[in-house]
Amino acid sequence: TSFGFKTVPEDSKESLVKNVFDSVASSYDLMNDATSFGVHRLWKDSFVSSLKPGRRAPMRCIDVAGGTGDIALRILDYARENYADRETSVAVVDINGQMLKEGFRRFKKTMYHNTPQISFHEGNAQALPSEEFPDNTFDLYTIAFGIRNCTSIPAVLKEAHRVLKPGGTFACLEFSRVNNPLLSTLYDQYSFTMIPLLGTILAGDRDSYQYLVESIRKFPPQPEFAKMISDAGFTTGDHVDGGAWEDMWGGIASVHKGVKL
Ligand code: SAM
Repeated sequence: TSFGFKTVPEDSKESLVKNVFDSVASSYDLMNDATSFGVHRLWKDSFVSSLKPGRRAPMRCIDVAGGTGDIALRILDYARENYADRETSVAVVDINGQMLKEGFRRFKKTMYHNTPQISFHEGNAQALPSEEFPDNTFDLYTIAFGIRNCTSIPAVLKEAHRVLKPGGTFACLEFSRVNNPLLSTLYDQYSFTMIPLLGTILAGDRDSYQYLVESIRKFPPQPEFAKMISDAGFTTGDHVDGGAWEDMWGGIASVHKGVKL
């Protein structure tokens, strides 16, 4: 398992984001559960099972902005439990070493520790280290609740396209746009008051959670994001299982997929 602690070029948004996740790293998993009442787990389960990792053959996967390894662990468990696959592998990439350390610590308790199935790498989604991640390397690229923190979405998509093999799948789980007006009002009330409050109580850090809530509101709505994915060279829509995107809980989160041509 490699910890390539290389210096990452940062602009102001990146260092802000780094500070946010530095300060939330140790309480991150607890906060996720508290703010979403555990719902993020269901979304992540359904995201990973929709991808069926390991169905046809073992897969080389990269989980970008992978944080503490929530998606990576689900991918490996899914492949093993459903297809007795112990060859699928996941490279977890994150800009934040603290998040990766939490992930590394967590994987120590699993059967994947010290196997070629899991590795952790410090890196920027917008410029994945090309020696570690050459062109046309992966069957599956996942990014969950990470892309909205990146300064340039097109740069992330371009890199995803570069490292995927032709025929490889890009899959993104992200907070998205709620279309139902009633649900949208309730959700706004909840997130602008409760989440920063829970951030203060549970993590002693209101500002970081306030930032997280605001970043959700700034992220492009589903059709706009789908267009960015197809502009980056991915096939979306009818060619992909479930269409260009699939809403979860009325659009509180959504899953976008694309296949590299
Ligand atoms: N994917 C994990 C999950 O679903 O639990 C972690 C999600 S967490 C909300 C967002 C992660 O994105 C953080 O770990 C943060 O360090 C990472 N991140 C933010 N900007 C990044 C960038 N430019 N490149 C790589 N990772 C980034």
